[in-house]
Amino acid sequence: MALETVRGVCPHDCPDTCALLTTVEDGVATEVRGNPDHPMTAGVLCTKVSRYTERTYHPERVLTPLRRTGPKGAGQFEPVSWDQALDDIATRLTAIAAKDPQAIVPYSYAGTMGLVQGESIAARFFHRLGASLLDRTICASAGGEGLLHTLGGKVGMRVEFFAESRLILIWGSNSIASNLHFWRLAQQARRAGAKLVCIDPRRTETADKCDEHVQLQPGTDAALAFALMHELIANDWLDHDYIARHTQGWEALRERALQWPPQRAAQVCGVPADQIRSLARDYGTMKPASIRLNYGMQRVRGGGNATRAIACLPALTGAWRYRAGGLLLSNSGRFPARREYLQRPDLLAGRQPRTINMSTIGDDLLRPASPGFGPRIEALVVYNSNPVAVAPESGKVVQGFAREDLFTVVLEHFRTDTADHADYVLPATTQLEHWDIHATYGHTDVLLNRPAIAPVGQALTNTEIFRRLSARMGFTDPCFQEDDLSLCRAAFGDAVDFERLMSQGYAPLPVPEAPFAEGGFPTPSGRCEFFSDRLARQGLDGLPDHVPNHETPGSSARYPLAMISPPARHFLNSSFVNVKSLRDIEGEPVLEISAEDAAARSIVSGSVVRVFNDRGQYHCKAVISARARPGVVNGLGIWWRKLGLQRTNVNELTSQKLTDLGRAPVFYDCLVDVQAL
Ligand code: SF4
Repeated sequence: MALETVRGVCPHDCPDTCALLTTVEDGVATEVRGNPDHPMTAGVLCTKVSRYTERTYHPERVLTPLRRTGPKGAGQFEPVSWDQALDDIATRLTAIAAKDPQAIVPYSYAGTMGLVQGESIAARFFHRLGASLLDRTICASAGGEGLLHTLGGKVGMRVEFFAESRLILIWGSNSIASNLHFWRLAQQARRAGAKLVCIDPRRTETADKCDEHVQLQPGTDAALAFALMHELIANDWLDHDYIARHTQGWEALRERALQWPPQRAAQVCGVPADQIRSLARDYGTMKPASIRLNYGMQRVRGGGNATRAIACLPALTGAWRYRAGGLLLSNSGRFPARREYLQRPDLLAGRQPRTINMSTIGDDLLRPASPGFGPRIEALVVYNSNPVAVAPESGKVVQGFAREDLFTVVLEHFRTDTADHADYVLPATTQLEHWDIHATYGHTDVLLNRPAIAPVGQALTNTEIFRRLSARMGFTDPCFQEDDLSLCRAAFGDAVDFERLMSQGYAPLPVPEAPFAEGGFPTPSGRCEFFSDRLARQGLDGLPDHVPNHETPGSSARYPLAMISPPARHFLNSSFVNVKSLRDIEGEPVLEISAEDAAARSIVSGSVVRVFNDRGQYHCKAVISARARPGVVNGLGIWWRKLGLQRTNVNELTSQKLTDLGRAPVFYDCLVDVQAL
């Protein structure tokens, strides 16, 4: 028997970016486990990815190109050859491009985080074509903009040093479910005497295990941050020297923070003023103090400003002086990926196509041509994403994807809700079947993924699919034929030791232990910008502020409940919902509701309920639970519509409104009511 172990990387949208070891017996992957040598992974994978072979050899994997035979959305297809599929797709796209290539829209996100199977040949293809550009906002852009205008980019603490913190605020993150390896470090800190505080509207598994839970109303994080600042000022728990030397806009921020005494924030946040005071005392006096911020808190109208307000805190106390102090939302800005090389925006050759925001795809698919919008969308090419399940206000998204005059191509592993609406489904390789290279947002190592097995069925890599399409469309520049290993090698150029990646699978970036101990923020001023001149020049508030939700809790008599939709623990966005062993653990789509709200509606635990608002309705199972605070329900996501009840999911209810910064969706800014059925 031929037995080998192949080094790889978890490709999923998770800050941990684990190093994988795949056991291959006679060409078949039999086990995927964590690499014990990689310090962050430490030999441990989450439950989801430890089942990776089940996903790769899933009986429902798409193994041949498929052509639609029934109505849109019915999921009726026939197998066709690659030549038939690609010839037809190239002919259709060429005809649309001849009128206006902007009528073609690529739609992709982080179905793989790999730089090569993500945006390399695909981006080159769409740039050469002159297709619409895509604003990839669906997850992180509000927080990303918030960081950019405060710290200067997606930069922060090195994650390993959380283990040495004395106080850790885990803010907007269910780390046990979605940042497991950070949680291991937090546990280490706790064993050494640290205090862990969870700040989250939901009583998560992480909140259960922390020393304290601040269960605030969704969308009120900035108000809490300002009240903490108020107390830091009132009690002089400030590092005046750090503020003077390394920040900008202190006097203006001070004035604003003084408008937020704890009593005021307590009313907005729905938490006791004394809890805010004691949290401020801890934050001001326990050193080093760190904040693990995650993207949950920025999925509301004021998400960008809230990120800015929270990111001001470590500079006020001088927490950045310590390697175990400061804040981490993302370190992806540390990675010197050569995106211009990989994606070749120069292939636009001076053209400036319009940009479609992926978060408003529901509305945009239904828009007619107009001088403001440009041509009606006539073709969508979807890869690394499942918008019919994950984009907000899915009633409209489904209506758009169901347009018979829309030509849709989907590169996929499975017949997802989106694939069911395709004219062609093209079988794509999984991470076990291709080369890729990965940056990450949770630690600071680059990782290389080697193919462990041959492609399953007739699957092709994303890159190869776009290479073949490029050739058919007459794109002759040699860049369209660059192979995957060359792309991996070029992705970081000399900035990373590629030979080390080839032999070890990972290579750390040279990031200082305490990156802002002496200031040096990558902002225009080189300081932590409490006041951002760049924002002010855009006509926006230069200071952070509390920006209330679009749909403020308590503002609607018809829809008295606020709904958030955090991920179910065993799913990762809409990935893994079709892996039976994981779906069996989750059971059914669930809405967590407090005993008080359930009693007021005669809802019993385990019964099916209708959750509704003006945008749509969603049927799921109610679970009466202390995880939901009164007035807030938790609709755990993201189920595939066709695997849910009545073929809907929680995004029937979410809106296409956008955040204050970053043009991002507001999944957790959503009012509903619930009815027993
Ligand atoms: S999903 Fe996250 S925790 Fe799970 S294996 Fe991938 S990177 Fe690791």
